[in-house]
Amino acid sequence: MCAKKIEMEEQAAARRHSAVRFDVLVIGAGPTGLACAIETSRRGLRTVLVEKGCLCNSLFHYPSNMTFFTTPELLEIGDIPFPSPNQKPTRDEALEYYRKVAEHYQLDARQYETVLRVEGADGEFRVRVEDRFGREQSYATRKIVIATGYYDLPNYLKIPGEALSKVMHYYDAPHPYYDMDVVVIGGKNSAAIAALDLWRHGARVTLVHRGPRIHHHVKYWVLPDIENRIKAGEVEAYFDTRVTAIREDSVELQTPNGPKIVRNDFVFALTGYHPDFDFLESLGVRMDNKDRCPECDPESLESNVPGLYLAGVIIAGSRTNEIFIENGRFHGRQIAADIAARLDEAVTPAMLEE
Ligand SMILES: Cc1cc2nc3c(=O)[nH]c(=O)nc-3n(C[C@H](O)[C@H](O)[C@H](O)COP(=O)(O)OP(=O)(O)OC[C@H]3O[C@@H](n4cnc5c(N)ncnc54)[C@H](O)[C@@H]3O)c2cc1C
Repeated sequence: MCAKKIEMEEQAAARRHSAVRFDVLVIGAGPTGLACAIETSRRGLRTVLVEKGCLCNSLFHYPSNMTFFTTPELLEIGDIPFPSPNQKPTRDEALEYYRKVAEHYQLDARQYETVLRVEGADGEFRVRVEDRFGREQSYATRKIVIATGYYDLPNYLKIPGEALSKVMHYYDAPHPYYDMDVVVIGGKNSAAIAALDLWRHGARVTLVHRGPRIHHHVKYWVLPDIENRIKAGEVEAYFDTRVTAIREDSVELQTPNGPKIVRNDFVFALTGYHPDFDFLESLGVRMDNKDRCPECDPESLESNVPGLYLAGVIIAGSRTNEIFIENGRFHGRQIAADIAARLDEAVTPAMLEE
C-alpha cells in the first residue's frame, strides 16, 4: 500500500475515533472492566473498553502454570457459567473463559491502547489514548469507569542493584532457573508459590522475608508445604531479614544476626503491586493519606469527580488483598445502575453519531 493511502486510512481511523460519542468508556479490560462493560451494555448504553495490553492483560502475565485460589463459579461474570474440570481453574482456562464471555456479549474492546489522560467533564469527557505504535487518538464519552487494577506497578525495594537485569518483579515459569541460585523476596502467596515451584524444578532457593514467618494469609494448602520445605532445609529461609543490596553474583542481607552475603544468580522480588495512584490523581480523584483509598460513593462507586466511576481492586487503594475478582465482579452492576438512572437516553439502544 502506498504511503499516501496509509496516511489517508490513518486519518480516517482518527476521525472515526473522535466522531463517535460513547455513553461509557471503561479503562481496563480485566475481569472487572469486562463485567462493567457487560452491565452497561445490557442497559443499552453504548460502551467501549480501552485496554493497554491484551484482554485480561494482568491475568495473562500471571505465572503460566498457575491455578486460581478460587473455584470457577466465583470468577464468573455476565451470568455465563465457567465450566472447568478442575476444582480451581488454571490461568489458561480463565483466559479462555473471559475471551468467550467478551465474544458472547460482543464487547467493543480496543486492545493495545493505553489511556494517557482525560480531558473535559461529566457528560463530555475526551479520553486520550496512545496505541502500541505511539499514535495518539481520542474517544468522546459521557461517563468513565476506571478498572485499571494494580498489577502493572510493583512495590520496588529501592535498594542498590534492583535495576540489574537478573532482578524480576514478576514470576512466570521455573525452567530457566534450573541449577541456579535464586533468591525470592517476600512472604505472601506469590513468594511462597514461586519458591516452591522453583525448588521443585531444580533451583536452589533462598527465601527472604522481612516478617517473622510466612504470612498467615498464605493459602491453607500452600502454607504447610512451604513451611515443611523450610523445616527440611530444602528451601533456605531468612526471616526478620531485609535485602540491602543486590550485586551481580550475590545478595546482601541484614539478618537478626548481622549482615550476610548469599551467592546468587537471580532474584524474584515478589513484594506486591499497587494501583497507579498518579493516574488517579491526574484525573482529580482524591485519596486518603493512610491507604490511598480513592474517594468514592459506596453505592454508586462514583468518585469525587462527577461522571468518573471506580471499579475493582483500585477501590481499596494500597490494600490490594481486599478486593479480588470474586467481589470486584459485582461493581459493574452498581455502576451501570447509577449511570443508567442518570442518563436520560439510558434506555435507548445506542447513541447516534454526533
Ligand atoms: C498470582 C495471582 C493469583 C490470583 N488469584 C486470584 C483468585 O484465585 N481469585 C480471585 O478472585 N482473585 C485472584 N487474584 C487477584 C485478581 O486477579 C485481581 O484482584 C483482579 O485481576 C483484579 O481485577 P481488575 O479487573 O480490577 O484488574 P486487572 O485484572 O488488573 O485488570 C486491569 C486492566 O487494566 C489495564 N490497564 C491498566 N492501566 C491502563 C491504562 N492506563 N490504559 C488502558 N488499560 C489499562 C491493565 O492492562 C489490565 O488489563 C490473583 C492475583 C494474582 C497476582
